[in-house]
Amino acid sequence: MAIQAPATEHINAYEVALRQYDRAVAYLDLPQGIKDYLRHTKRELSVNFPVRMDNGDIRIFSGYRVHHSTVLGPSKGGIRYAPNVDLDEVRALAMWMTWKCALVNLPYGGAKGGVICDPYDMTPTELERLTRRYATEISLLISPHGDIPAPDMGTNAQTMAWIMDTYSMTVGYSVPAIVTGKPINVGGSQGRKEATGRGVIICMDEALRRAGHNDPGEIRVAIQGFGNVGTYAAKHAFDLGYKVIAISDVTGGYYNAQGLDIDDVMAYTEHSHHNLLEGYSKADKITNAELLALDCDVLAPCALENQITEANAADVKAFLVVEGANGPTTPEADDILFDKGVHIIPDILANAGGVTVSYFEWVQGLQSFFWDVEEVNRQLGRVLIKAYDDVVRTQEQYNVDMRTAAQITAIKRVGEATRTRGIYP
Ligand code: GLU
Repeated sequence: MAIQAPATEHINAYEVALRQYDRAVAYLDLPQGIKDYLRHTKRELSVNFPVRMDNGDIRIFSGYRVHHSTVLGPSKGGIRYAPNVDLDEVRALAMWMTWKCALVNLPYGGAKGGVICDPYDMTPTELERLTRRYATEISLLISPHGDIPAPDMGTNAQTMAWIMDTYSMTVGYSVPAIVTGKPINVGGSQGRKEATGRGVIICMDEALRRAGHNDPGEIRVAIQGFGNVGTYAAKHAFDLGYKVIAISDVTGGYYNAQGLDIDDVMAYTEHSHHNLLEGYSKADKITNAELLALDCDVLAPCALENQITEANAADVKAFLVVEGANGPTTPEADDILFDKGVHIIPDILANAGGVTVSYFEWVQGLQSFFWDVEEVNRQLGRVLIKAYDDVVRTQEQYNVDMRTAAQITAIKRVGEATRTRGIYP
């Protein structure tokens, strides 16, 4: 069965990323040439390749790998499998990776990849052949010191294991540092699977604490998306005592005013069809649109781009929006939320926990020395709180909203590093 994602409006994510960039870069005193340089992707690879399906048919798939920047180090970013992937979306996601890595001070540039396919409509053996062939096609660009992929929507630890194996077979020895987000038994890191969601809640908790909200039991959280990010955001919020009153996935929203038992929900989705929430009975069914407009304190969009737009931003009742997804809020919606006094913790900070632990995984793989989960989580908290502080300081310095402050902080770092390195030749 093919599962359709909720209809997103036809808003071009790359245009959104560029508008955010233009807004932030205007505050910076950088040479115009460097501002123009960072506005462009560095290189873009498009590939079309055949995959043998289980019934013997050969199908042609299209995919991309885009490097936005390699100024601060090897480029880093996930690979997305979804029917609506296109080059502009991958460009936007690659650019956001550059700012995200710079913001949390990782020695990485930004990249992203994607394949146009419906992973819910393919068998594991078809997905394995697609992944191995795509990995081979983009081997022109990926390497452990050049460009390091990771999971994103529609891919997971198993996908990374196949990429690692394919690359390793080609060079003749195991190269764990070629990808991050691997299963733990082939060099993955403790805490990586949970890291993005955990980071979302670390940022939420920090914002609430700074605003004087010290009782988690009083705070009602609604989370859009119950994939990797939403699930572990809900789990960490629940474990800290927050009231998670609504969650959702492609099958709709699930609401319980008393708070959902997230351990129970996770036990349900572990065995449900495609791990979906459909049929979960200890909650009232609402729509995804109703979830976004729910009477709650914190809204965490952890699904897709362009979810909070000009059309529904006025309906948001939360006082805090924490962006677990990349690009869930359009610039028009940013302005509407700002005027309403809604505080936004932007994606490049709120969801940076994933790539942060990816970095830890890469370092562990290169050193063949592995950390325990306590060490991973301690370092994750340290990195995110430092980035949060940096953004607040920029916010005070420039008197701007938090998204613009986060982008200013990141663009400044990449821009100054570009200047220091100089323009070749
Ligand atoms: N796909 C994730 C993101 O958007 C993680 C990327 C990574 O770990 O490299 O941040």
